[in-house]
Amino acid sequence: MRVSDLMTPATLVDYDRLKANIRFMSARARDNGVSLRPHIKTHKCLEIAELQKNFGAAGITASTIGEAQHFARNGFKDITLAVPLAQDKITAVKQLAVRADLKILVDHSATVTQLISALKRTKMELDVLVKVDCTLGRSGVDPEKRSSIKLVERISKARRLRFAGLLTHGGSSYSATSEEGIVKAADEESQAVLKFASLLRKENPNLAPETISIGSTPTMMVRDVIPDGITEVRPGNYVFFDYTQVALGICRAYNCALTVLASVIGSFKDRLIVDAGATALSMDPGPIHIDPDCGHGKVFSDYEEGDFAESTTITNLSQEHGKVALGSDSSVKKAKLGSRLRILPNHSCLTANLTDEYYVTSGAEVIDIWNVYRRRVVT
Ligand code: PLP
Repeated sequence: MRVSDLMTPATLVDYDRLKANIRFMSARARDNGVSLRPHIKTHKCLEIAELQKNFGAAGITASTIGEAQHFARNGFKDITLAVPLAQDKITAVKQLAVRADLKILVDHSATVTQLISALKRTKMELDVLVKVDCTLGRSGVDPEKRSSIKLVERISKARRLRFAGLLTHGGSSYSATSEEGIVKAADEESQAVLKFASLLRKENPNLAPETISIGSTPTMMVRDVIPDGITEVRPGNYVFFDYTQVALGICRAYNCALTVLASVIGSFKDRLIVDAGATALSMDPGPIHIDPDCGHGKVFSDYEEGDFAESTTITNLSQEHGKVALGSDSSVKKAKLGSRLRILPNHSCLTANLTDEYYVTSGAEVIDIWNVYRRRVVT
């Protein structure tokens, strides 16, 4: 099948770019002597996880119970569930831990209480990572607070819990406006966990964390050297990249592997209407702090070369329609009904989450179709 034969909107993944991105990150982890545990929430796809494994990934990171169950059933046994645990998921976690080598994430003492109670009459032991906040201000313990050390102490003393280490995510890198800003976020990410690890060691050598895990795509890409003491990295987005990463300067448009193919369903003097709306692209606002005119993704004039169409902005998305505003020198100004546009989404993880399959491409050919797993829980 050829790309031109596909019904649109269609989510395309360029095989060579995907492989190059996977190879690059694997080499970065290997060169630094750290384990790579990619976040599979970006792609939710067994074939892509398999490629990551073949290039040396030691395990996977997942966000939802459903992802973890699906990947565990399909041979991926080493899983970190990297969202702080809510009580309603403890039963599912217990079931999963029988089949998989699972690590869960905690940042509140109340969760420890719930886990202790849920495991009381069992013989099982759960591996617990403590989430550390590295200035993102989302979840995680404050690494400078005494109560954070107490939380680790409590986990390590609990009979059925094992303190497995520390985990943080340098998500504030996405708010940066310069390379220096991303380097700063990368430093803060590493320093938060390394400093907390050293406080724990000082408090009690038995609290020394085995795993010290960091990772976001910008903080992994922005520097070659990962600080000593970090044992694991968990980037996710790097498999596809997207316009946010391009605007941040993390990659070039020709590195981006995931695109959405859309058909022109309306052609007017000042605008085109395409059949890719919010349900195909997602409403992610994109890197508006860097490029206020990024719109809802970028239209390529030449995907192979990585060129965007000038004066062409996806200004509005409704559920199934995308409105593409055309400046006078737009290269797609004369696009006829039925012609195709290839769009780089603002946030590939959210775009991927909207499709059931990837059309895997090599040039103009579709060489495979891979399923995307999107259910939150398997019952
Ligand atoms: N780890 C955690 C806890 C995350 O929340 C994320 C992404 O949100 C990642 C790793 C991967 O980050 P990225 O997609 O920037 O590579």
